[in-house]
Amino acid sequence: MGPDSPTAVAAALTEPLRAAPAAGAPRVSGPAAVSRKTRAAAPTSSTRAVKMPLVDRLASAIVTGVPPLLVVLGMWLGWSHGLMVWQDLVVLAVFYVAIGSGVTVGFHRLLTHRSFKTHRVVWLGFAILGSMAAEGPVIDWVATHRKHHQFSDVDGDPHSPHLHHRHGFRGELWGLWHAHLGWVFSDMEVADERRYAKDLLADPWMRFVDKAFVLWVVLGLALAFGAGVALTGSIAGGLTAMLWGGAARIFFVHHATFSINSVCHYFGRREYETGDESRNVAWLAIPTWGEAWHNNHHAFPTSFRHGLRRWQIDPSAAMIRLMEVIGLAWDVVRVDPARMQRKLTPAQR
Ligand SMILES: [Zn+2]
Ligand SMILES: [Zn+2]
Repeated sequence: MGPDSPTAVAAALTEPLRAAPAAGAPRVSGPAAVSRKTRAAAPTSSTRAVKMPLVDRLASAIVTGVPPLLVVLGMWLGWSHGLMVWQDLVVLAVFYVAIGSGVTVGFHRLLTHRSFKTHRVVWLGFAILGSMAAEGPVIDWVATHRKHHQFSDVDGDPHSPHLHHRHGFRGELWGLWHAHLGWVFSDMEVADERRYAKDLLADPWMRFVDKAFVLWVVLGLALAFGAGVALTGSIAGGLTAMLWGGAARIFFVHHATFSINSVCHYFGRREYETGDESRNVAWLAIPTWGEAWHNNHHAFPTSFRHGLRRWQIDPSAAMIRLMEVIGLAWDVVRVDPARMQRKLTPAQR
């Protein structure tokens, strides 16, 4: 059985704090965003400013910089030395789906927004699976994301592409870079876990999963190695499987997640009034496992489905639905169609 629902994090789980902008309000970015952010309530008690320690910057540099270098190495070895076998692609695909789901179904829809309930062991299993993605310890991830929902695209948002003081095209590019990856390295206000993830902090097993973060990342690499050895019967096969199912998979899952923060707050369509810059980006729906229906998600954060229309492909929602059918998920959150209708932008009505 999953945890009960303390009210402390309720605001971050449900609706954004601001009212939607007036109908037809223009997209806000650059200097306009700066003026808008001053209208937002300052997140004083909920954040603490930190100087990013050097060790954290180095860890972030390694975990985001080394995998792409290894992808290039893997492609070179594969093409020029025939060192890539079909088993590597199988391990990559399986691990991308499994660990990607750990982030989208586990970290995001289950742990952050409580879109459904499940058995306790499944609940912890998703926390471990998501940790293997090397996107930070689970409680930190959840707190940061709940804070993003509370302050989306206004002061206090950890990774908005619109909160910059730079002008012109270069300013826009800088905003996108900051939202995509730069924020990981910048001095920032970190989300207070005692405020944003009190429910997870209260659970000793979840605290253990959080503290053992590095172990889960290494376990993800070791499992890819083991799968490669099992499929090819050789150590060399294990090593190339670890390259593709480990390093390359970390790289691909990272940038799928990061693109939600950058691309899906900048390009794409707004179907619902959300009071922020979240957008739906159809071409990213499959690689992000349904998370790119991000405007829908900001409109209805607890909904188990982000793809709200029949044609909006959402593999994470399909997984949750399957879990529901076989009895692994219950209390699955669905949005009332009349409520959806009321929240449509004037252009969509
Ligand atoms: Zn967002
Ligand atoms: Zn969310």
